[in-house]
Formats: sequence, structure tokens, C-alpha cells
Amino acid sequence: MKPSLTVVGGGLSGCEAAYRAAAYGLKVRLVEMKPILFSPAHSNPDLAELVCSNSFRSDDLKNAVGLLKAELRRLGSIVMLAADQTRVPAGRALAVDRESFSQLVTSKLGSLPQIEIVRDVFQPPLNNQGPLVIAAGPLAEDALTEALSAITGAENLHFYDAVAPVVTKESLDLSRMFFADRYGQAPGGDYLNAPMDKELFVAFLNALKEADQSEKRTFENERYFEGCLPIEVMAQRGVHTLAYGPMKPVGLIDPKTNQRPYAAVQLRREDEAGTHWNIVGFQTRLTRQAQMRVFRLIPGLENAQFARFGSIHRNTFLTAPKVLDPYQRLKVAPEIFIAGQLSGVEGYVESAAQGLWAGENAARYVLGKPLVRPPEATASGALLGHLTRDSSNFSPSNITFGLFPPVPPNITKAEQASFRQNQSQSLLEDFLREIDYPLGP
Ligand SMILES: Cc1cc2nc3c(=O)[nH]c(=O)nc-3n(C[C@H](O)[C@H](O)[C@H](O)COP(=O)(O)OP(=O)(O)OC[C@H]3O[C@@H](n4cnc5c(N)ncnc54)[C@H](O)[C@@H]3O)c2cc1C
Repeated sequence: MKPSLTVVGGGLSGCEAAYRAAAYGLKVRLVEMKPILFSPAHSNPDLAELVCSNSFRSDDLKNAVGLLKAELRRLGSIVMLAADQTRVPAGRALAVDRESFSQLVTSKLGSLPQIEIVRDVFQPPLNNQGPLVIAAGPLAEDALTEALSAITGAENLHFYDAVAPVVTKESLDLSRMFFADRYGQAPGGDYLNAPMDKELFVAFLNALKEADQSEKRTFENERYFEGCLPIEVMAQRGVHTLAYGPMKPVGLIDPKTNQRPYAAVQLRREDEAGTHWNIVGFQTRLTRQAQMRVFRLIPGLENAQFARFGSIHRNTFLTAPKVLDPYQRLKVAPEIFIAGQLSGVEGYVESAAQGLWAGENAARYVLGKPLVRPPEATASGALLGHLTRDSSNFSPSNITFGLFPPVPPNITKAEQASFRQNQSQSLLEDFLREIDYPLGP
């Protein structure tokens, strides 16, 4: 009988961790609480559910997340494999048909003899269940969260962030909008753009600032990630935050005026058929009434029907630099690996990547092999580096080039991107050879 490993949570990181451990021939118990219990954001019984956007963001290698995805493909990631097979058009981004994506991951894992998928709520205690990967996500179930808090210290477990609304295409007035990708070939493109002149933009900004917000619950506090600020919080920060942020018009020409609009709201398709569209970057904690009133000021959205309202959500994560060792194990309990968003990374791709390395190390731990860390100048290494970098005010992070080691001085931005790309690829290849990395189960 091969040694075994339990993975708690069949989300993006848990699936990736289980798949990785299966590559070593381990017997993996993947415990997923759905459909017995659903978090407030989950609704699909399948594994690897995308709870909000259907986008894995840019596929461009000049972009840090593009580089991370390329690395994941090279590493044999199950999430990338399924995403590539279920992608829908989204310009330079990798977006997927969410239902097909989750179905595919579920059926791939379910077909592996090494993996047993157990549909049950994992019960603490944490410390006598053999080697564990805890990948319970930003909405981890209460008893597990309490057990984590008890083992790591309550001050090291946190908190909340926000999601964007989705509207139906049939409710949009397309005559007031245009299809274009930023800097894309005109005419056409995958994004729907709602252009605004300065007068409308200012009126919209004021409406946002004055709109009612949902009541905060007693356990919520006002600490948001800079990369995922509610739209009304951005509006409060002044005109430029939105006009240079999610409403930036750069790279867009309105075909009606042949000019760049003052600002533009972008909508991205949610499903392959294009029946639902996400208002990009409009995560919010406005009340539903306020969302209907304010977002219907956007050109083309005057009669918008909301398939999903924006909302605030809990986001549980650990203060990684304090509680995790360099191999993503709890310092106080080295049999327990933490994967995904719980570990302090932010985003689907990042959770998958971090889950992959947690699975790799958990498998190595079970087999008595040395634990490993990818080089810091690879995208994976840069991401994991964030979790160990000492910081008095740790907050979760997406992958950015800011997490990579510095590049040589005096090279242009374009040269920096290709330098990072070449460097990370060659380091990764050397590293995989050195650790004798088995590609997949
Ligand atoms: C509302 C919301 C919106 C988000 N929007 C985006 C977005 O648009 N783009 C983006 O990149 N990221 C987004 N994120 C972050 C996103 O959740 C993560 O990036 C990603 O899904 C995290 O992967 P994960 O594997 O850590 O957790 P998840 O994918 O959430 O998986 C955790 C799994 O563990 C299960 N589980 C929990 N507790 C137990 C237990 N005790 N026993 C058994 N199973 C358990 C859950 O049912 C779930 O299936 C969002 C997060 C939330 C909460």
C-alpha cells in the first residue's frame, strides 16, 4: 500500500495539490464538503468552482500572471489543462466556460485510481490525521477555521473582500456601446465598452460616492486588498483613481466619435454563449437597490438586468510569514501544509500555483524526500517568496513583477519582460531536472 495524504478542500488549490501528489503515486483522499455544505459563495457541486469571474486574466508572457500560467502549463497543472480546453473568447485573457471547466477537473480527478474523492465536511482536530494539505479556501468552513485559529493564534487569521456584478446581454442597449479590446484591432474585439464623456463620468462618480452601502456585519472590518478595492472606495479616493483604474479609456477609440472617451466601463463575457456579462472591476458593497440605480447610469445599462449583484465576501487567510515555513507548512505542525488563498496568495491562478507546490512538498514529505522551493526568479518562486517575506503588515497578493528579484539596471521595459521570461524559463528547466520532477499522474 502506498503512503497516503489527505487534502482538505476540492477548490483550485486542493485539486492541484491532489493531482500533484498523485503524480508520485500516493494514495490521496480529497475531502470536499460540497454538496453536503456550501459556503455562501459556492453553488456548484463540482470541484474547482470559480466563484466569481470566469477569467484567469492575461495570457501575455509580458505580464506576470501570463508568465505564471505558462509555468503552470509546463508543470503539468490540472487547472491549466482544463482551462485551456474550456476557454471562451476574451481578447488576450484566458477566460473559461465555468461549468465545463469545473466538470472537466472533476472528471479528470475522479478517473484517477490514486485519488479518492470524499464528499464530507472535514472534521478537526488537525493534529492527529496524518499528513494534511489544508486547501479550504477563502470561505473555509467554521469548525476548520476555528481549529486553524487555535493552532496558529487568532491574530494570524483574517478577513474579507468584494465581487463584481453580472448583467444579462439581452438587457443591454448595444447601440450605446462598442466592442473593442484595449489596443486591439478595430473594429471589433471581445470586450463591450460603455463610453462616458467628462460630464457623465463626474455625475456617475458623485452617484457612486453618495450611494447606500450594505450594512457591515459585526465581524467585518474595512481592510481591502489594493488590487480588489470596491468601486465606491475607489470613487471616494478622487477622480483619477477610477479614470486611471477600471474605467481607464487607454487603447480604446469610440467608433461613433473616432476619439478616445473620457472614461469607459468594460464588460467581459461570463459564458461561451455570451448571454451574461461581467462589469469588469466593479466589485462593490453597495446595496442591491443602489447598484441598480447607479450602474444603470452607465451608457447601455439603462435597463440592465442583474444576473448577479456585486457583494462583499469573507476572505480567510493566514499571516503566512509568521506561521508558515518556506515549504508552506505550519511552523507549529510540520505535517500540515497550507494551500491556496488561505496561505495568503490572491486569485485563481495564484491559488492553483501555490496549491501545486504545496502538493509537491506534501508528497515529498510523505515519501521522505527533501522539500523544495522553486527559484525566486521563476513566477512560482516569486509568488511563494511573498509568503515568507517578513512584513509587519502582510496582505495577500496577486502575482506581479514587483515580487520578482530586480532585473539588471538600464534595460527598457520591453527588455525587462523578455529578460524575466527567459530567465524564469531556463531556471525552471534546470530546477525541474535537479529535483527529478514527475510531470503528472
Ligand atoms: C466571493 C469570491 C469571489 C472571488 N473572485 C475572484 C475572482 O474573480 N478572480 C480570482 O482570481 N479570484 C477570486 N476570488 C478568490 C478565489 O476564491 C480564489 O482565488 C480561489 O478560488 C481560491 O482557491 P482555493 O483553492 O484556495 O479555495 P476555493 O476554490 O474556495 O476552494 C476551497 C474548497 O474547500 C471546500 N471546503 C471548505 N471547508 C471545508 C471543510 N471543512 N471540509 C471539506 N471541504 C471544505 C470548499 O467547499 C471549497 O470547494 C474570489 C473569492 C471569493 C470568496
